[in-house]
Amino acid sequence: MNYSVRKKNKIVKYIVIHYTGMKNLKLAYKKLSCENSNVSSHYLISRKGIIFNLLCSKYKAWHAGKSKWRDDININDYSIGIELENKGHDFGYSNFSIKQYYSLRKLIFFLKKNFRIIDKDIVFHSDIAPNRKQDPGEKFLINKIGIKRFNNKKMKNKYSLDEMLNLYGFHNTYIRNYKLFCIKAVKRTLNYHDINSSQSKKFLNDFYNLLFC
Ligand SMILES: [Zn+2]
Repeated sequence: MNYSVRKKNKIVKYIVIHYTGMKNLKLAYKKLSCENSNVSSHYLISRKGIIFNLLCSKYKAWHAGKSKWRDDININDYSIGIELENKGHDFGYSNFSIKQYYSLRKLIFFLKKNFRIIDKDIVFHSDIAPNRKQDPGEKFLINKIGIKRFNNKKMKNKYSLDEMLNLYGFHNTYIRNYKLFCIKAVKRTLNYHDINSSQSKKFLNDFYNLLFC
């Protein structure tokens, strides 16, 4: 079994974006739809832009693993998982294709409408499991799908790093225990080339602008 029943009290409120991180589409398709693989996803989008619907969204797919976001834990319970074909950091990370962005945009438009999901609840695997995951990674350009995840209201002039990580959406235990990983995840969202955990002035500035622009 590689999926389970979604409990009635768990409603879909997040979309989680991944990359497959496998050598080719066929392997990814096989793994995501094989009963013994322990992983699954609702959708898979090939580099050519073909959308495969692998699992009905009424079921809970196993794509996020141990994960937390804002006050929620086990994000599989509340989410739709979308995998984008990409070899990933281990096998040759490449830019996502124009056709992938095009199909993802259409799919997300459909899901947002169907499940009443808002832009800020479209999250990356690296956000909900920053200590374990780095997908979809720094080459994923969210503005290509017309999503604006962050639009916080400025309440004061200066925010500490912890406050900004909190506003970004990281679960408090992650901010406490894996702060350096959280910083790396933010740098991926900011599409930095060099993903490290340094807290330069430039980074703090960029982070601030991401949250409040
Ligand atoms: Zn993933």
